[in-house]
Amino acid sequence: MKVLILYGGRSGEHEVSCLSAASVLRHLNPRRYTPLLCGITREGHWFLQEDSRVQAVLQGADLQVHPGAEVSIVPAKGFQAGGALLDLDMVFPVLHGTFGEDGTVQGLFEMTGVPYVGSGVLGSSLGMDKEKAKQVWQYEGIPVVPFRSFVPEDHQEARGDIPGKTLRRLWQEWTAALQVPLFVKPARAGSSVGITKVHSFQELAPAMKTALSFDSKVLIEKAVTAKEIECSVVGNLAPRAFIPGEVEPHHEFYDYEAKYIDPDGAALIIPARIPEKDQHRIMELAVRAYRACEARGLARVDFFFHEDRGELYLNEINTMPGFTHISMFSKMCEAGGLEYSAVLDELIALGLQEFTRRN
Ligand code: ATP
Ligand code: MG
Ligand code: MG
Ligand code: MG
Repeated sequence: MKVLILYGGRSGEHEVSCLSAASVLRHLNPRRYTPLLCGITREGHWFLQEDSRVQAVLQGADLQVHPGAEVSIVPAKGFQAGGALLDLDMVFPVLHGTFGEDGTVQGLFEMTGVPYVGSGVLGSSLGMDKEKAKQVWQYEGIPVVPFRSFVPEDHQEARGDIPGKTLRRLWQEWTAALQVPLFVKPARAGSSVGITKVHSFQELAPAMKTALSFDSKVLIEKAVTAKEIECSVVGNLAPRAFIPGEVEPHHEFYDYEAKYIDPDGAALIIPARIPEKDQHRIMELAVRAYRACEARGLARVDFFFHEDRGELYLNEINTMPGFTHISMFSKMCEAGGLEYSAVLDELIALGLQEFTRRN
């Protein structure tokens, strides 16, 4: 099968995507798949990478986006590069965040009629929008972290210049409902980009400005003090969850640095150090959350769990989670007996299955 791997992209998670995609490329079984690489620049240009680049990455070189033949979508036909249609069986968008994990690129795939790995338009966009996802989960009776949202009213607010009087009112409203500290985050982002823990009113304005620099909607949440538990889910209509793992951040929270920069930023512990019955409760909730969003293929579902207080909250779902062979998603699959290359086989098969089911 010829598989087109899309990576990079116009998102705060461009570098993370390059790491994930390099891992995917290196673990695709060469007897089954012929990989093609399409790099997307930070500006949004799609370039087919020369085969020598593919070979270099297979030999251990870092994956970056280099200029090359421009790739474009041909509705009802597929993808073309340098004036010729690409002969493809499957697209694998190893893209995180905006324009990759949010349904936009999935919409393009739908137009081409080429099968693809992972969630469709609705599952991706619901998963990406932390406010809408929570509303769906609340409707399903799944406990979520208490939240408010903020949408700027005009261009000035969108730039993060929120009048002092408005901010004061919001602070009072939010802290009355959610207490202090608060988490302020872009409603649609990932890898902790744009997230601030806000301990005082003085910190609110810069936190809002940061979040607004990544998205035009902001989510404000109660800060939960509990274990962070993550759960891998794989499948289409009847997905299965793997034994959850635990993330123990060594920073104030699991921020971008702790995830990718500081080698000692966090401990990943699988299985999570919680009673078995709670592991199973979390797995069940993860599957329910996945189905409620109509996710497909794969996702990593993130929770907060406090054993003594008996508190369990669903935090968020990631429909294209960090996907290197040492990422939490892959390690949880591996602990459950599904090693990385086998995950890739299964995801490609699930993409085909979903395509056949719907066409
Ligand atoms: P990713 O997609 O990489 O998992 P993200 O950018 O979607 O991350 P979240 O998972 O919502 O963001 O938050 C990132 C981290 O910030 C969490 O893992 C946790 O450490 C901390 N955090 C976020 N929200 C809260 C909260 N309400 N209470 C306590 N900690 C929080
Ligand atoms: Mg996320
Ligand atoms: Mg994410
Ligand atoms: Mg998360």
